[in-house]
Amino acid sequence: MAHLGFQEDERGDLVGLAYYCSDFCNREHNPDYGGWNGAHELDTREVCAACGVEVDAVEELDMQWSEGRPQLVVSREIS
Ligand SMILES: [Zn+2]
Repeated sequence: MAHLGFQEDERGDLVGLAYYCSDFCNREHNPDYGGWNGAHELDTREVCAACGVEVDAVEELDMQWSEGRPQLVVSREIS
């Protein structure tokens, strides 16, 4: 799950977007930090703009039939 840092101009229009691994990095790095903005799902791999750690990509939960009954399958999407 990613934290998003919205970058705004002086009129409050969105001019940029940064990805962070945590609320801590967002608060430390983003001059326009406007509060907790986490738990976003990404469909691409991004690295944290503050510390460079890879921000987790989407983790998909899926059901699969196995041995005659449904099983919850966790698959990590690689892009
Ligand atoms: Zn970070």
